[in-house]
Order: sequence, then C-alpha cells, then structure tokens
Amino acid sequence: MAEYNVKSLKADEFINHEEILETLRYADEHKNDRVLIEQIIESARPRKTARGVECPGLSHRDASVLLACDDPELTEKMFTLAREIKEAFYGDRIVMFAPLYLSNYCVNKCVYCPYHMQNKSIPRKKLTQDEVRDEVIALQDMGHKRLAIEAGEDPVNNPIEYILECIKTIYSIKHKNGAIRRVNVNIAATTVENYQKLHDAGIGTYILFQETYHKESYEKLHPAGPKHNYAYHTEAMDRAMEGGIDDVGLGVLFGLELYRYEFAGLLMHAEHLEAVHGVGPHTISVPRIKRADDIDPTVFDNGIDDETFAKIIACIRIAVPYTGMIISTRESEACRNKVLGLGISQISGGSRTSVGGYAGYSAEERPHDTEQFDVSDQRSLDEVVHWLMDLGYIPSFCTACYREGRTGDRFMSLCKTGQIQNCCHPNALMTLKEYLEDYASPETKAIGEKLITEQLKLIPNEKARAKATEYIENIHLGKRDFRF
Ligand code: SAM
Repeated sequence: MAEYNVKSLKADEFINHEEILETLRYADEHKNDRVLIEQIIESARPRKTARGVECPGLSHRDASVLLACDDPELTEKMFTLAREIKEAFYGDRIVMFAPLYLSNYCVNKCVYCPYHMQNKSIPRKKLTQDEVRDEVIALQDMGHKRLAIEAGEDPVNNPIEYILECIKTIYSIKHKNGAIRRVNVNIAATTVENYQKLHDAGIGTYILFQETYHKESYEKLHPAGPKHNYAYHTEAMDRAMEGGIDDVGLGVLFGLELYRYEFAGLLMHAEHLEAVHGVGPHTISVPRIKRADDIDPTVFDNGIDDETFAKIIACIRIAVPYTGMIISTRESEACRNKVLGLGISQISGGSRTSVGGYAGYSAEERPHDTEQFDVSDQRSLDEVVHWLMDLGYIPSFCTACYREGRTGDRFMSLCKTGQIQNCCHPNALMTLKEYLEDYASPETKAIGEKLITEQLKLIPNEKARAKATEYIENIHLGKRDFRF
C-alpha cells in the first residue's frame, strides 16, 4: 500500500487515499469540538508582521475539520474570516476573463463531458486560424484582455503544434485598441517537452482540472483514452513546473465524488506543489457539473447545494489564502453574488462554451450545437461589469503581474506580504478605465468613472497615487497599456 508523502512525485503517495480517509475520520471525530474549531479559525487569521500582512493558511486536516463542522454560528465565523482574508490579499478587485473553445475533437470518454468520443450527436469543430482571429476580434470588441483557451484531447486534430499556432495568432491580433495580453491554457495533461513549448509561447496559467482525486472513481469516469491514466493526469502539474510553467491552476469537478474527499485531495495537491516546487497553485477553480448535450447532471450522486458550495469556497479561501479562486458562468448570477465575497478573485463574463461561439453572434444570440455545458450566467460582459460595480467590486482587466515577470514564487512572495496590493489596485483602476473608454455602455461608464475617482483617493502611497492619476488621464487621451 502506498504511504503518504507530500514530497513524493508519485500520484498515489502525494494524493494518498489512506491519508484522505484518515483526514475524513479525523474531521468527523472533531466536527463538534467547538474549542478546537475556534482554535483552528483563530490560527488562520491574517496578522500584521514587519513585512506586511501574512496569513498562515491551514493544513488539509484542519481545513477538513472546518468543512465538516455544521454549527451555524461557527460557519458564520468561517465566512467572516474568509471575507477578511479575501479583503487582505485581493481587496475588492475581481479579475475578468473569457474562455475560448478551439476544438471539441476528443478521443477520451469522460462520462460527464459531451465532447466524449462516442457522442455522435454533437458536431465536431476545430477553429481555423482565420476563425481564431474572428473569435479574438469579437472578444476584444467585448473588452476582454485575458482568455482561457480550451480544447478536447486529440493528438491528431489538436496536436500541440495546433495549440501553439492558436496562441501565436491570439497574441498577434491588435484590433482597434484591443489586445489579448494573457492566454491561460486548459488542455489535457501532456509531456514536459510540450509544457516547455507552452511556456516558451508565453502562456499565463496552465489549468488542468483533476475532475476527481478519488482514483477508483476517476478510472470509472474516464473509462478509455489517454485521460484514463490517473497517475499521468495527477502528476501533470509537476511536469508543467518541470517544463518551466510556474503558474498552474487546480480544480475539481464538484458532483462527481464526495465533496469532502475532493476538498482534502485538492489541498493535499496544493501542499505537494508548495513542498516540491516552493510555490503553490496560482489558482483553484470550483466547477460544478452542468447539463450538456447528452449529459444529465442528475445521474451523478454527489451534487452539492449552494450552501455547501459556499462553504467549500470559504474553507479553500482560509486554507490557501494566496491562491486566486475562479468561478465560471456555470454558476448563476445569484450564486456568483453569494460566493464573490467569500474568496473568489476571478470570474468569466459574456462566455460562450461552444467552438466558434463569439464571432457573428449578438449578445443575445448563443449557439448551442457544440456547447460544452449550459451557461447559467448569460449576461453580457458589460452587464457583469456593471453588476460588479453595483455590488462594490472593482472589475479588473489587469494582466500586469505575469507581463512584469511576477509569476510563481515571485508573485507568491509579493502576495504573501500583502505587497501585491500596491500594484494591483492601481492596475485594476487603469485597466477598468481602458474598458470604460473603449467598450462600456454609457450607464456602465458613468458608474465606473465615479468609482475610479473615489478609488484613486484610496491609494495610500502618494507617489503611486499621482502616477496612477496621470496614467488614467493619459488613457482618457487615447494612450493604452500602463502598468505598475
Ligand atoms: N480536455 C481538457 C482536459 O482533459 O482537461 C480540458 C478542457 S475541458 C474543455 C474543461 C473542463 O470542463 C473539464 O476539465 C471539466 O472539468 C469541465 N467539464 C466537462 N464537462 C462538464 C459539464 N458537463 N459540466 C461542467 N463542467 C464540465
């Protein structure tokens, strides 16, 4: 039997089944232990140090105790702490992005995904470079600066060369004042050599959802194709880091397995990356299974309600305070509203989950034929930006950190002392200003201008405040792409 070893490079040792079961037993034993739970909450609070604000996070065991506890008063304390941590490291900023589906050809048989190879009812489509161009122009015309590219796994139709060519095309397009400044990549697990190529192509984060950390379920849910190999999939982030990518994004697809098992596995994965590579995951995504072409989400037994979902998000926020958290348009406006304050730092807006879903369609029209899943939040980007500002958030189109080389441990060490805020807050305001000038509706522009004026006053450093004010005036005069 494999033994738990956080530093091992073998999947069944760093995501150790026995350790997860032991963690769940420990959590069950202690879930009513008020004293211990209060101690855990106390231990996770942000604290002022000589270097700034620091936050210790929690081990997968302690975090699992919090998640298991269902006392309403203690849960409220967890939510309050999650909000405090979010405020300390991410402030009111919410980074915006959109997915871009390149191809739905796939040789896997993932039972929850409509792109599975046996699905004959879904048309197969792969964007040509001209179509990539059209999609990118449509996305730039909405105001997006950051994309996550998505593709099925198919070595013949979607080889790495195709993905690299698409990335090159995306970065090359400068339409009006538009530009895609960061391309994150969500493609199947691959080799160190291919990760090197992605790194050299200038990608932002490499994102790969684990789907489930439960090996036996994983193998049943991925009955054939390269994705069937649990170890190869689970060890992908180590290969990505070996290939030079130091921002990686984790995630599980909630609904496939017991959420408490997934939660422990996810945190063990984060601990493993930190222990081996000195840097934890850049982001964690929290997708839930959705209805799609031939997929009925109700056949999976482990669906979670909105309350549990919110608690998972709060507990992740407390356990890994510096990791960005992403929520997509799989979730409704109401659900997104609820979890934004609890730790989410990035959301998508105006998303299409079909191949070729942007170009040639109005904000109200959406093609369904090649969709990967139903989108719950169907608002346009402008509506989402407006809504965020109404709720008191600052929508940010910032991509500065990675373009300034603040990735991996350099990003983490800045973030860990709260220093990241000296750049992020003005950068958010400047990129929001670009959005307002170039893409916003008159109503969105009006509340955005007001928000920027108020927020500029809150930049504590006098020099930074003056510089940001000057840059914002320059943006009004037509200049673009300033950053700290
Ligand atoms: N093919 C790539 C891979 O194997 O990782 C990733 C791209 S896939 C387009 C992106 C993610 O969508 C998957 O990792 C999965 O978690 C999620 N997904 C698949 N089917 C879904 C569904 N029915 N509802 C919600 N999310 C789904």
